[in-house]
Amino acid sequence: MNDRQRLLSERLEEYKEQTGSEICARFDRMLSECSSFHIGGPAECALYPSNAEQLRVALDAAQYAGMPVFVAGNASNVLFDDEGYRGAVIFTSAMHNTSADSESCTVTADAGAMLSGVAACAQRAGIAGLEYLHGIPGTLGGGIYMNCGAFGGQISENLVSCTYLDTESGAVVTETPDKLGFAYRSSIFMQGGRIILGAVLRGEAGERDSIKQQMEEHMAYRFGTQPLDFPSAGSVFKRYPGYYTSRLIEEAGLKGRAVGGAEVSLKHAGFIINRGGATAADVRELIDIIKDEIFRANGIHIECEIIFAPKA
Ligand SMILES: Cc1cc2nc3c(=O)[nH]c(=O)nc-3n(C[C@H](O)[C@H](O)[C@H](O)COP(=O)(O)OP(=O)(O)OC[C@H]3O[C@@H](n4cnc5c(N)ncnc54)[C@H](O)[C@@H]3O)c2cc1C
Repeated sequence: MNDRQRLLSERLEEYKEQTGSEICARFDRMLSECSSFHIGGPAECALYPSNAEQLRVALDAAQYAGMPVFVAGNASNVLFDDEGYRGAVIFTSAMHNTSADSESCTVTADAGAMLSGVAACAQRAGIAGLEYLHGIPGTLGGGIYMNCGAFGGQISENLVSCTYLDTESGAVVTETPDKLGFAYRSSIFMQGGRIILGAVLRGEAGERDSIKQQMEEHMAYRFGTQPLDFPSAGSVFKRYPGYYTSRLIEEAGLKGRAVGGAEVSLKHAGFIINRGGATAADVRELIDIIKDEIFRANGIHIECEIIFAPKA
């Protein structure tokens, strides 16, 4: 253990002694084992708070130890660095309470609840309109940060309110979606300084069996069109207005193009897959090649949807 890890551990131990409650901490955690891309070196520490209070304690402990913090949900849209992260990666995955209210057609969930779990909870309560979240392999917090969407739905459109921690002031704030700067795959949370704690989503009254059928159809479509048998972070690029980026990549003859272990999927040109042993450097180089080729062929600059986690 280095000095920072010792300090962090000391703080977590104090918290345990005072409250009897423990925050799961893993030192030198390989981020390749935590991300859907299976890429990334070690994090000085990975922390797994199970509620908002523990999240605050984790932040405080990291600050005490002089560690920067990166917050992750299920790391399904993140490319971690090959050198890992010199600091604390706080995963929200242990914050996952989810409940539904059939009368108001709402689902209330913590930030770390998986989107598929949110959709399943809605289905059980007879709430339609959230089926599109089923199969997006991320958390509610990550989904709101990204303003994720699929099959014509977008999470901001179902959001009633979102509760977050303002890391500057320490205040817990609840806002309606009009205050959260949502646009296509974009939100105010990308400006930093806010950690999503939970949210309320609204659907509409529906019939359980048809909701379930819709979810199964979405999943079948994913299995038929996406390379789900390889590690990836989903679609690498955002849509460019008026274009399907994956079609542009395909038309540029880039399907199957590889750098090291990273390859443009033969099944879905919008995905870069890790066909074994890919590094973040491989993925970055392949992304640069794709961007250059698309610019040469179409004169447009496509943007990445995936998030490049910093090294520290
Ligand atoms: C096979 C596959 C299919 C996919 N299909 C889709 C799809 O159909 N539609 C779609 O939109 N996306 C899709 N994705 C991408 C991804 O699953 C979504 O963007 C998802 O919403 C990310 O959630 P996450 O919890 O994994 O976030 P992460 O990848 O962990 O984080 C993403 C960003 O959100 C931030 N963040 C996470 N949690 C919080 C929090 N609580 N507070 C503040 N910031 C936070 C992180 O710092 C990071 O910058 C797919 C990915 C894969 C691998």
